[in-house]
Parts: sequence; structure tokens; C-alpha cells
Amino acid sequence: MHELSIAQSLLEIVLEESRKHGMTKVRVIRLQVGELAAVVPDSLLFCFEMISENTAACGAIIEIETVPVVARCSQCQLLFQVENHVFVCPECQVPVMELVSGRDLSVMSVEGEREESDGAH
Ligand SMILES: [Zn+2]
Repeated sequence: MHELSIAQSLLEIVLEESRKHGMTKVRVIRLQVGELAAVVPDSLLFCFEMISENTAACGAIIEIETVPVVARCSQCQLLFQVENHVFVCPECQVPVMELVSGRDLSVMSVEGEREESDGAH
């Protein structure tokens, strides 16, 4: 149930954003998900749909962009993209522990509709 807890914190962030901007309905949520965040997009979408019912984020479209894993070598400071979970510097062939990106999930933007002010008061 990894995705459920992610969906819950995602919903909190999205609702907080929508309140801040006075949105009554969230339309599009853009996410960046690191390859190492081990998030299954389909289950995340499924969980989000389930828990966002009766909130402003109900029915929102979620766009997920995958972020590659980038590591930095502690010896030569080289930044390189990690493929197939091989955490070894291509230059020095030493194991690399420091990750620059690829582990996190972040909300890039939240788009929605603001409350109509039709001047009826
Ligand atoms: Zn190196």
C-alpha cells in the first residue's frame, strides 16, 4: 500500500495548493516521479481517484513525468545517469552512494478553476 500513502500526501498538497489559489475545482496535476521512488503510476492514479472523491481534486487529470536517476561520484564529482541500478562511476569504477535526483516525487503544478465572481452581490 505504498501508493496509497503517497496518494494521501499528494492529495493534501494538491488541496492546500487549490485553497491557496482559490480554486473550486482541480483540473490538472503535474507530477515528477523519480525512477527510484518506485511508484506504479496506475496504482497511484487508482488510489488518488479513490481518496479524492468529494474533494476539489475529484476527477483531476494527473500527468506523471519520470525523472531519471542521477548520481554524483565522490571521487571525480562526475554526474551520471544511473541505468539498471548500476551505481558505479563510469570513470573511476567505484561504487557511488550520492544521488542527485530520481528518488523523490514532487508536485510541479496544480491547475484548476477559480470561483466565478459574477458580481451578484
Ligand atoms: Zn568517478
